[in-house]
Amino acid sequence: MSLIDRRRVVVTGAGGFIGHHLVKRLKADGHWVRGVDLHVPEFERSPADEFLLLDLRREDDCQTAVHHVEDVYQLAADMGGIGYITSVHASLTRNNVLINAHMLEASANARVDRYLYTSSACVYAAEAQNSAEIAPLKESAALPANPEKGYGWEKLFSEQLTTYYHEERDLDARIVRFHNIYGPLAAYEGGREKAPAAICRKVAEAEDGNGIEVWGDGHQTRSFCYIDDCVEGITRIMESGFTSPLNLGTDEMVSVDELVDLATRIGRKQLHKIHQLSKPQGVRGRNSDNTLLQRTLGWAPEISLASGLARTYSWVWAELKKAGRARPPIPSESFVTPLEAPAAAPGSVG
Ligand code: NAD
Repeated sequence: MSLIDRRRVVVTGAGGFIGHHLVKRLKADGHWVRGVDLHVPEFERSPADEFLLLDLRREDDCQTAVHHVEDVYQLAADMGGIGYITSVHASLTRNNVLINAHMLEASANARVDRYLYTSSACVYAAEAQNSAEIAPLKESAALPANPEKGYGWEKLFSEQLTTYYHEERDLDARIVRFHNIYGPLAAYEGGREKAPAAICRKVAEAEDGNGIEVWGDGHQTRSFCYIDDCVEGITRIMESGFTSPLNLGTDEMVSVDELVDLATRIGRKQLHKIHQLSKPQGVRGRNSDNTLLQRTLGWAPEISLASGLARTYSWVWAELKKAGRARPPIPSESFVTPLEAPAAAPGSVG
């Protein structure tokens, strides 16, 4: 990389799951990186050139965060799994509105070159997601608005606010709507974990032949995007110059039961599912339409759920093993589905 390509960037939320992976990628690409968060990453040291502990609900802390940088990757948010975000609407919405309002104002005043806001598939209207066999969501389907309570309304509002700063304050903005990002180094317990990590934990801890709890009736559908594809997509979107919202997810839709079955096969266990109908399960069906992403970038996420989940399961299992909580067998990262297995060479004996 030449000195001209080397940029000074800040990643907010760098102590969190996606932010930490993004810092690693931007460092590997040769950039100077400042990480900002309320805390450092939980599972490994950040490679950021500078890591500042700041509270981005405060305007002065946002000014410090963006001081003397060219690019802003805004990933800081009060968020978590479905259980968490549906239980704290007031505080979560307030925290995130403050973070995004102050980050935008500080970045516009500092005249940064580029600003990337991380939104969510939770911005989409409820009526477009009320069946498990739902059509993939196009970016235009977010309006007219009827997003998820709390977190979804805040994300949609902050998308709009980002657009106003683009239109009136000349902020060169990007808006990325993530669809269920998962992978190693994400929370897998404590209340903020998402479905893939929670399911990996339950399978890893289960004795072969036992049952595991599954939230909802298991027929609700989602698509899941592996962290390496997410980080690749973020860097491509930043370079694209595209300033309107873009989905970043896969269109490989599965039911939650299918996700559990896959994790169970990866874990090489026989487990039965105990459905918890009283637990929150979010919208009935959700999938990403990647037409606009593909047209804009000439690229879309490509890592299969089977391969990404195998890597995630191996990591969760190893973490639980340290605490003496993982049950055998030892997982293998090289899990392949029959569909992914290479065809046998002509003449080979199967
Ligand atoms: P995460 O919770 O792991 O990371 C968010 C980080 O923001 C945390 O480390 C947290 O400490 C930090 N933060 C919260 N409040 C802060 C404050 N006041 N000041 C400074 N830092 C603060 O979440 P993530 O999965 O890495 O998500 C990153 C971004 O992507 C968020 O904007 C999130 O809403 C969005 N997103 C994530 C997903 C997903 O599937 N993981 C899906 C849709 C959108």
